[in-house]
Amino acid sequence: MKQGVTHPTTAGASLAASGRDLTVSDAPRLPILARGPDALLSVIVPVYNEAQVIGDFLGALQQFLGSLDLRWEIVVVDDGSSDGSPALALAASRSPAVRVVRLSRNFGKEAAMTAGLQIASGDAVVIMDADFQHPLETLPVFIARWREGYDMVYGVRHDPEPETLGKRLLRWAFHQFVGREDRIVLPRGAGDFRLLDRKVVDALNRFPERERMMKGLFALLGFRQIGEFFKVAPRAAGTSQFGARKLVKLAATGVTSFSALPLQIFGWAGIIVSIFAFGFAGWIIFETLFLGQKIGGFATLAAGIMIFGGLQMLSVAALGAYISRIYREVKGRPLYLIDRIDEGLAQPTRDEA
Ligand code: UDP
Ligand code: MG
Repeated sequence: MKQGVTHPTTAGASLAASGRDLTVSDAPRLPILARGPDALLSVIVPVYNEAQVIGDFLGALQQFLGSLDLRWEIVVVDDGSSDGSPALALAASRSPAVRVVRLSRNFGKEAAMTAGLQIASGDAVVIMDADFQHPLETLPVFIARWREGYDMVYGVRHDPEPETLGKRLLRWAFHQFVGREDRIVLPRGAGDFRLLDRKVVDALNRFPERERMMKGLFALLGFRQIGEFFKVAPRAAGTSQFGARKLVKLAATGVTSFSALPLQIFGWAGIIVSIFAFGFAGWIIFETLFLGQKIGGFATLAAGIMIFGGLQMLSVAALGAYISRIYREVKGRPLYLIDRIDEGLAQPTRDEA
């Protein structure tokens, strides 16, 4: 049985190395040995108010990782929980290979994952939810694919829980916008549950944007990717943190960070409306001059004003969404702030104590 390891301090080094030209990372960073039994696997677990499950989950995860033929570390990123989750995570840690990183407040899952990716030092990194929805049994499958030479293995929901119509519509609309640009392929059913090779993590860490939609960034990266099906388990306890509002916000971030289509739509709408307006004006002039008809119609006028008023407001709103995004990026605030990092301790047995 392999033991977990204390984290080597290679994170800084690899971050620095990632500043080099991208082509450098095309070559294997280390010989294929890096994916052998000496490889270090980091598991990142973003946690927000998961007191009901975090202890059990970490227990199960450590036991499972112990049965795999590689070294491992766990990076728990506590995203500003208010229910004592980080203390419970520490209590469930059996070795210093488990680190609990506390962010200074709730920054959201995207930021928590980003923190984890910057802290993890593994040759491969897996991101997993704390609520048992991502089955541990998928890990060996991911690792096998990685050893075959794939740089990114993403989990694809096998039979997703029946989604509400709203969620489905949102997903569809989102793919319409985002899938179109930059020749990005956003694999359907793929989420944040995935394994990334070190070079992919280094590449990802070079993306400076503050407002993140990780799924989109993953797709943007390239490298050798492959999907693996997994069955989404029902949440072990507690409730999903992603209500309609958060989902809409995430979708909006995704659209504005990966697509300028909303702006273009108003460009096209403007062109079509203008053509129509000119035609209409021409027709009115013709009618008045040659047919001698009086043009009446307060209703036409009112309808016209309302249509254009509405279109204008929408287009200003679309512009505003991009400008506020630019504003947030320009401010350059850090994505997350770390309060403290604790190492899990080997628990003394009753006899030792
Ligand atoms: N999470 C987080 N920060 C947040 C919201 C959620 O770190 O602001 C974590 C949460 O603890 C869980 C994972 O992200 O480990 C997925 O969250 P959840 O299960 O609520 O989402 P769903 O599975 O419904 O997409
Ligand atoms: Mg969940």
